[in-house]
Amino acid sequence: MKTGLSHLYIPGPTNLPEDVRRALAVPMQDHRAPEFAALVTPLLQDLKPVFGTTEGTILLYPGSGTGAWEAAIANTLNPGDKVLMARHGMFSTLWAEMATRLGLQVELVDVPWGAPCPVETFARILADDSEHSIRAVFVTQNETATGVASDVEAVRAEMDACGHDALLFVDGVSSVASVPFEMDAWRVDLAIAGSQKGLMCPAGLGVLALSPRALALAETNTMPRAYFHLGDMANAHAAGSFPYTPPAPILHGLRAALDRLNAEGLDNVYARHVRLARGVRAAVEAWGLRCVAESPACASNTVTAIYTPDGVDAREVIAIARDQFNCYFGAGLGPLAGRAFRIGHLGDLNEGMCLSALSIAEMALNAAGARIPYGSGVAAAQQVYAPAPGQSARPA
Ligand code: PLP
Repeated sequence: MKTGLSHLYIPGPTNLPEDVRRALAVPMQDHRAPEFAALVTPLLQDLKPVFGTTEGTILLYPGSGTGAWEAAIANTLNPGDKVLMARHGMFSTLWAEMATRLGLQVELVDVPWGAPCPVETFARILADDSEHSIRAVFVTQNETATGVASDVEAVRAEMDACGHDALLFVDGVSSVASVPFEMDAWRVDLAIAGSQKGLMCPAGLGVLALSPRALALAETNTMPRAYFHLGDMANAHAAGSFPYTPPAPILHGLRAALDRLNAEGLDNVYARHVRLARGVRAAVEAWGLRCVAESPACASNTVTAIYTPDGVDAREVIAIARDQFNCYFGAGLGPLAGRAFRIGHLGDLNEGMCLSALSIAEMALNAAGARIPYGSGVAAAQQVYAPAPGQSARPA
């Protein structure tokens, strides 16, 4: 029998804030009634700042991030189209596999897991593509498997530098609503998110943000698509509805979540994620362990993947945390299985929760055979989180 709160530190689904949880508890309703449109239409509007767009169009697909990946590709690209992608973690790998399955010709750049999107290599490939045969460039803004952030703005700058007109697709599943995303400024054509991470809702919605260019392409695209047909969704959304039955409770949850994000202020949300991540990384350093992210410059502010010491099985660390402490850490995925565990620090989270995660991680690591001085990581994070003496305000 597990008692007390369950500690959830996986990088999504994230903790549901209490008001989101309450908002989910609605009676079922007629999703074709006018009052339902009064729920949906403002959601589509209020998601725009989260993507940093005023020009973009938001679509909410019942499904998850993976569904939104498919909707993005199926509506704007055609079989045989060449696309440029990097593989540097489980999610960028799966996205590339999907692109291949859907018949795209994928020019794949392999970089070590732990590295960010290889901007310089992309720049060279794009500059060499004088005929502009590459139709789209894909970037995973936050590789959740490795805890690595990539520089979308830098990719855009390189595309501009060589005058390449490819579409820019960005996977923001584990970054949107937690770190800045500037769709208009970076001229992103397709941005993808899911309801269960920075948006603090249950899984069940794939969120797509499209530039006017991407929206126009969808009208003539010939890739077979049915459930994800953008025209059906865009037409329905224009009337505040869906072409099929939506997960209504999640839409109510999303309303509460967006209200929370606005009440905190997006800049404060982003600053909080930076602060929490800095504390976790300070702990990793104090433990003498290594992040999977190859350098602090590309370390994610939403999830930290941590190598366990040689001889310490990360699966055991995770199992001990789960079974002894009712605490859930993210598993090492693919080649990182057994070698790394992940601490998700995104969504509805605060300093105390991060300190609990670090404290439990210290016990689980030691129980699995590591030699970590108790309190070392917690103390390092406290140094980051504590206000300076005499100051009541938190450090920025
Ligand atoms: N992309 C990234 C970066 C992710 O982290 C995930 C899931 O964790 C996905 C895509 C797939 O999203 P979903 O599991 O919602 O289908």
